[in-house]
Amino acid sequence: MTMNRRDAIRTVAGGAFGLASIPFDAARHRLLGGPESRPHAPRQPEPELLIRGGRVVNADGSRMSDVRIVGERITEMGAGLAPGPDARVIEAAGHLVMPGGIDPHAHLQGSFVDDLTSGTSAALAGGITSVGTFAYGQDGENAVQAMERWLSEVPRSAVGDVFFHASSWPPTSEFAGQMPELAALGQPSHKIFMTRSDFGANRREVIRVLEAARDAGVVTLMHCEDGAILASALERLRAEGRTSLAWYAESRPELAELTATQDATALCAQTGAPMHFVHLSSERALRAARDPAFGDLPLSIETRPLYLYFTEEWLRGPDGPLYVGQPPLRSARDVEAMWGGLRDGRIDMLATDHAPWTRAQKMDPQLDVGRLRPGVSDLRFVRPVLYSEGVAKGRLTPERYVEVTSTAAARAFGLYPDRGVLREGAFGDVMILDPERTHIVDADDDPSNSDYTPFQGWALTGWPIMTVRRGEVVYEDGRVTGRAGSGRPAERRPWGA
Ligand SMILES: [Zn+2]
Repeated sequence: MTMNRRDAIRTVAGGAFGLASIPFDAARHRLLGGPESRPHAPRQPEPELLIRGGRVVNADGSRMSDVRIVGERITEMGAGLAPGPDARVIEAAGHLVMPGGIDPHAHLQGSFVDDLTSGTSAALAGGITSVGTFAYGQDGENAVQAMERWLSEVPRSAVGDVFFHASSWPPTSEFAGQMPELAALGQPSHKIFMTRSDFGANRREVIRVLEAARDAGVVTLMHCEDGAILASALERLRAEGRTSLAWYAESRPELAELTATQDATALCAQTGAPMHFVHLSSERALRAARDPAFGDLPLSIETRPLYLYFTEEWLRGPDGPLYVGQPPLRSARDVEAMWGGLRDGRIDMLATDHAPWTRAQKMDPQLDVGRLRPGVSDLRFVRPVLYSEGVAKGRLTPERYVEVTSTAAARAFGLYPDRGVLREGAFGDVMILDPERTHIVDADDDPSNSDYTPFQGWALTGWPIMTVRRGEVVYEDGRVTGRAGSGRPAERRPWGA
């Protein structure tokens, strides 16, 4: 398994496209370890971790099983495993042993207050071992150059493993031509914002990009809100003098999400391009995306924590600006629809859209319906809160919980079966959760640089007590112990490979 992996990476790094920059290549090989990077080092036995006596929960079932991890990968599972010499034994009796979480949608760059270090630390503290974020370009970089720069940043600063979605606008033929290169770099995904005012003017080019993405096995993330409707709603609010954030919900009507979701679903059907709809928030948008008339589409859908726990009334309270995200909070009926979709599979996964700001930044009186700091910090608490609200309250089975917080993202983004499942040969990415432990949520207990959480003071039942990332204990006793720079780019297979 390990040799195959190395071979695969070597093929990509030195392969037909010849794109990997020298620093990225060197960093990769150093992190991989092994004879090619340390020719003179004596052969050390790989460290062993034995997680003993716990209940292993995978998306397809649960059983009592020990988990032996040697080096980075799971080598054996079963009852009554004996530890090897020098193994670290972790007693997990009474605990749930689950795959490390995979969050495909987090913002850890730009003006947000987290970077790869603080963001992945927050993730690890919450049982998430792989985080997907964005390879935004700068200074005239093209999408491939931006991707290479971000990949090279991971072994310098990340604690958890990281994957990236490209992003480029307008949708040029140059960008379409780069799809195979993104796939060759192990990062086959990119994002399109339908919120852009010129999305409609670029439809023909969007379709060309989607077709190129399809041919290269690249997944297109779609932000489904119609830019023209948003612009007209904003114009009307301005004309009426209703511009404070108390009117935020009115500035982004549900119809903007509905029509964009219908449009994106039709584009998915027309092109056959694999798609992923980010932060879906409304019942009508969900019905549009899962219209049975379209048949089986290569489409995955995420919702986010805000849409499971809060309704639009929260936007009108004194702390309303803290809950501003795109799209806005919806009705109680929409909240129920998100839970229903998560339960029955019409919604594939819960992703954070982690978008961290400080409380002062969010409450800045300069902000209005046209000047926003959308999003909240969520990586730390998304899994514990969903366990408590979902599993402990009987709304989700433990298996479905694993599926919506790990396995589904692994499948949609080409990480499965290296990740998203506990089985022999997979990476030793593990969250150990104590289902009996209660915990009061406190933002001070979050490695994110954001200083508030929408879940402040919530009393949770069930709490993650340890996170293992590729065989290394990186979170225990309430502290992140992993080192900045020990994270690695999470290599992904193209869609359908
Ligand atoms: Zn986002």
